Amino acid sequence: MREFEYLRVNTVKEACSLLSEHKEEAKILAGGQSLLTLLKMNILSPSYLIDIKFIPELNYMDFDDKDGLRMGALTNHRTVEKSPLLKEKFPVLPETELVVASVQTRNWGTIGGTLVHADPIGDMAPPLIVLDSRVKLVSSGGERTIPLTELFVDFFMTVIEEDEILHEIQIPPLPPRTGVAYQKFSTIEAGIKIAGAAVLVKLEDGVCKDAKIALSAVASVPMRSIGAEGILKGKPINDKLIEQAAQMASTEADPVTDMHATDEYRRELVKVLVRRATKMALERAKAAKS
Ligand SMILES: Cc1cc2nc3c(=O)[nH]c(=O)nc-3n(C[C@H](O)[C@H](O)[C@H](O)COP(=O)(O)OP(=O)(O)OC[C@H]3O[C@@H](n4cnc5c(N)ncnc54)[C@H](O)[C@@H]3O)c2cc1C
Repeated sequence: MREFEYLRVNTVKEACSLLSEHKEEAKILAGGQSLLTLLKMNILSPSYLIDIKFIPELNYMDFDDKDGLRMGALTNHRTVEKSPLLKEKFPVLPETELVVASVQTRNWGTIGGTLVHADPIGDMAPPLIVLDSRVKLVSSGGERTIPLTELFVDFFMTVIEEDEILHEIQIPPLPPRTGVAYQKFSTIEAGIKIAGAAVLVKLEDGVCKDAKIALSAVASVPMRSIGAEGILKGKPINDKLIEQAAQMASTEADPVTDMHATDEYRRELVKVLVRRATKMALERAKAAKS
């Protein structure tokens, strides 16, 4: 591993100022669960590591009925998994965390880190996308808030500029009669994920008023399956419709063949996972408060 200077900061302002000073020579260090592997493999070799782990103003969770949730980027996976607030307001998030890595990794890895790392197989992006999440990015020059879907550009690439940090994830309140579910398939338990699907269904008078479907591990970025969503919207959902949506999602996916699975197998899994997640989201929507 190439030598680097370790810079520990206590405020967002300090972190942003160091980023503007060192630009591409610097990397942010949060939980280190992805970054340290890249450093050890010499895939990245920054001259400065800016450790944000001890910035209190990046570690919080607030909810109000009007604006929804605001969660600091440093919130770790284990906190999301255990949060009584999230279990009540967005249960799909703690549920998804149960299939993210091991407890040890969840204790260190952060929600901001997993999103900025932008691994298309990451588990948290699909449920966050169907929940309509936005991310706040800050720099010394100001801040901007963008939909989470616009964060991802390509494999391991985001729109975050060299001098920006991800500060906050924002999620609007879940509408009434809405159910959300996430399904994934890995080679082995806690192994390499082959495909993942999150589905949100909102019902009104028995009709699907809104549907969102997000897939992971089947394209260079976590992706919405807009065609499949269109099949569900505006109709009462039944098994035939779910089958058509699952088929459409499989067609819209753009998977690769690698050492873990063929593109054909991944497409087949998309069908299975979208079918399962839609059925689960539908049942949850029926049981949700009106
Ligand atoms: C053994 C193992 C198993 C895993 N299994 C899974 C799994 O099953 N599912 C899954 O989804 N993930 C899995 N992961 C990935 C894990 O979720 C991520 O490594 C972790 O969440 C990354 O967060 P971090 O805080 O450790 O980020 P770091 O490793 O510290 O940083 C990752 C990247 O994000 C940047 N960064 C971090 N925070 C910010 C910020 N606030 N603003 C700007 N840039 C930032 C860093 O510069 C770096 O480029 C696994 C990881 C390990 C090591």
